Amino acid sequence: MTLRIPFDNSFAGLPNTFYSAQNPTPVSAPYMIAFNESLAQLLRVQPGDLADMAQIFAGNVVPDGAAPLAQLYAGHQFGNYNPQLGDGRAVLLGETVGTDGIRRDIQLKGSGPTPYSRMGDGRAWLGPVLREYVISEAMHAMGIPTTRALAAVGTGDTVYRDTGAMPGAVLTRVAQSHLRVGSFQVFAHRGQIAPLTQLTNYAIARHYPEADGPMGLLQAVCDAQAALIPAWMSVGFIHGVMNTDNCTISGETIDYGPCAFMDSFDQGRVFSSIDAQGRYAYGNQPGIAVWNMAQFATALLQQMDNKEAALEQATAIVHAMPDRIEAQWLTRFGQKIGLVGAKTEDRVLIDDLLALMQKDGADFTNTFAALGTDTARDQFVDRDGFDAWEKDWMARLQSEADAQTTMARCNPQVIPRNHRIEDMISHAVAGDYEPLERLNKALKTPYTSTDPDLHSAPTTQQIVPATFCGT
Ligand code: AMP
Ligand code: MG
Ligand code: MG
Repeated sequence: MTLRIPFDNSFAGLPNTFYSAQNPTPVSAPYMIAFNESLAQLLRVQPGDLADMAQIFAGNVVPDGAAPLAQLYAGHQFGNYNPQLGDGRAVLLGETVGTDGIRRDIQLKGSGPTPYSRMGDGRAWLGPVLREYVISEAMHAMGIPTTRALAAVGTGDTVYRDTGAMPGAVLTRVAQSHLRVGSFQVFAHRGQIAPLTQLTNYAIARHYPEADGPMGLLQAVCDAQAALIPAWMSVGFIHGVMNTDNCTISGETIDYGPCAFMDSFDQGRVFSSIDAQGRYAYGNQPGIAVWNMAQFATALLQQMDNKEAALEQATAIVHAMPDRIEAQWLTRFGQKIGLVGAKTEDRVLIDDLLALMQKDGADFTNTFAALGTDTARDQFVDRDGFDAWEKDWMARLQSEADAQTTMARCNPQVIPRNHRIEDMISHAVAGDYEPLERLNKALKTPYTSTDPDLHSAPTTQQIVPATFCGT
């Protein structure tokens, strides 16, 4: 049986100012590694035989109705503008409208060179592909907006990286769209106003049909990003490379290159080996999101007739963001300690707990998961300190109806810990996909304990100190 994708493409209908038509480059011997059946259903994708699916998801066969293309974009990388990015190793096959009425891109990542590859080989190896598969699906299961993973295939080819010869792989990524801040920046910087306006209208129609013009779009994207970053922080997620080309218009998390979930809590935590300055440290993420939105505003403004008035409006929208992020952060972290609708005066209680956790390097996930049980204090060296905090907390909880239920809904029991991901990858490279399947299964229900072994923080030997873009 042949895989069927009911393509309904809109982006390919735009002029090729926005992309280059590009077929995926075939690989030697494709084989299926993972396929996401529930996502396939949502997308109205009809699965086929394994061999047939492997051919399509590896890019050897272009499915009926696809209009493959590589998207153009630019972006600020670590604060510096790079005018020459674009899908260097990804091909958008097309879009489907899901059973929920939402239009989504289906994209192959690692499918060969494109006009935007520059020096890259256009490929990906198994490690980053499976990493993104597991972590993006875990994010989705936690209820955090994210691109998703439909399939992972091995290519049968070897990919050469710093770490050596690696098995090649392709990820099928799904997103409400792959439009980023950088998709707009490229035209703004070139002074190409007509395409900038066309893209703005396309993004509004696709993502925020209620938005009123470019400033309405800016407001909507700021709202989406202001919701996203506190959601990340509430599960200890560090994106690691919040460049403007990795900042989506849809508000979905994108690019799982050097990301990581923290084990022991540290506001300054950085995993990415290329983030020497700690620009994208855990606690810096709100400020960076605002910075990214300022870049988005700057790009959008180029098309406004009354620049002075628009600048005033854009400035007000971007300047309102820190308070919005703070409000959502307070709501999220309030819920983590059982408070519904936490107020500003509750912040001190949250801050006190985080300060204790920071001082003792308490495990972020396990501390919140254990709150209200006898084992919470075991996460701390300063147990008297924790006991004193717990007393204040208990007093505050007197006025909360169902704290345990509130907490259980937002404190994950299981997260994709770095050492588990690394272990999964080394097994997969050796042809053993059991750890991959185990992680995928447990992470489907992150708020329920189904595989307690996966809850453990790493031992000293197991700690993964850094993540690499790896590509
Ligand atoms: P990233 O840091 O993952 O956001 O990627 C930055 C840019 O490099 C994007 O334009 C990617 O498409 C491109 N890129 C990353 N890896 C490769 C590769 N192996 N081959 C070609 N282009 C790549
Ligand atoms: Mg990227
Ligand atoms: Mg990347």
